[in-house]
Amino acid sequence: MDTLTLKVNRRVQTVLGSSTLAITAKAKELKSQGKDVVNFAAGEPDFDTPDTIKQAAVQAIAEGQTKYTPSTGTLALREAICKKFKKDNGLAYHPSQVVVSCGAKHSIFNIIQVLADEGEEVLIPSPYWVSYPEMVKISGATSTIIPTTARTGFKVTAQQLKEHITGRTKIFILNSPSNPTGMVYSRKELEPLAEICVKKKIWVISDEIYEKLIFESGPYCSIASLGKEIFDLTITVNGLSKAYSMTGWRIGYCGGHPEIMEYIKNYQDHSTSNPTSISQAAALQALKEPEEKISAMCQIFKERRDLMTSLFDNVPQVSYIKPQGAFYLFCDFSKVGNASQIAQKMLDEAYVAMVPGDSFGAPGFIRLSYATSDAQIREGVRRISEWIKQHT
Ligand code: PMP
Ligand code: GLU
Repeated sequence: MDTLTLKVNRRVQTVLGSSTLAITAKAKELKSQGKDVVNFAAGEPDFDTPDTIKQAAVQAIAEGQTKYTPSTGTLALREAICKKFKKDNGLAYHPSQVVVSCGAKHSIFNIIQVLADEGEEVLIPSPYWVSYPEMVKISGATSTIIPTTARTGFKVTAQQLKEHITGRTKIFILNSPSNPTGMVYSRKELEPLAEICVKKKIWVISDEIYEKLIFESGPYCSIASLGKEIFDLTITVNGLSKAYSMTGWRIGYCGGHPEIMEYIKNYQDHSTSNPTSISQAAALQALKEPEEKISAMCQIFKERRDLMTSLFDNVPQVSYIKPQGAFYLFCDFSKVGNASQIAQKMLDEAYVAMVPGDSFGAPGFIRLSYATSDAQIREGVRRISEWIKQHT
């Protein structure tokens, strides 16, 4: 085919595809070809969506909930989300301050497009989730990466945050528990960050999608709960994908200051309109599910984390910090060689799928998802260990 002479939008030209989606798709494709792939790439729980939630969707179809809903989601769902925000996070949002979207990814995309503008800067601590910098590119703003290391548990310190703020800084993106490191910020760690954002009048996007998957005791802290001023500056994002194993249903949501939420509503009015009505009915049911169902899944992830880390303890070339939440182990492979090439070779030669750290802004590292069975975890780490023995 001839190369197009017409150019696409200037901002879209530099946008990269999602490596997490690409490698997961590749692993699934190899599996469907009959290859014995161990998939450590998947960014989704391997459990099925609970039956009660599926049934709510079936019932919604039968009852004819198959029409447009308000663009921001049904009132019933937004009320249930407000209840959740109040109960779990101590955040008092009115249903008019909540917008339901097609996944938390969509919520974050909307927020960035609404807030960020050309000539402005968005602060993103690395390692970061792959999609943040690409969303910023689309907005026309620029990303300022704040590199964090194992020394501070991959968490940004108040000093680092201060050092990266300029007169053009508009937004700070916080992700706790973190994808890809699994690190969780304590209240004590969040307080000075909130103070700086309030002082400098910087918006905070708090991506709390892994909130329910935390393994250590101690209450979860949402940065917006730390005071009235930071509450007004924060847009809190959450969703159903991870906690309820509902990645395919595409429901995420956010809450924030009424003025900003009005702009987000208008933006969504002209793009997707409402997220799927049937998925909204399922999400409403999910939010009514007993906490025990989620904690049972969380307990399984904890056991898998412990299994995977104990297996890596016998692979001296690879180091890690024990994750406190989510379902990823972020491993330092720099002693073995070029992490990006290693991940590619391990997929080609040992059929182990993993996501290299480059796409998370952390070359030298590789992300392994333990959202898979104990047997797959044992087999995958065995293959990695063998591969390393043969190649070092
Ligand atoms: N934030 C982070 C950090 C994630 O890992 C994901 C996973 N895809 C999302 C947001 C978006 O999730 P979803 O769109 O499925 O709600
Ligand atoms: N968030 C998951 C991941 O990081 C799912 C894929 C994606 O949307 O990026 O793997």
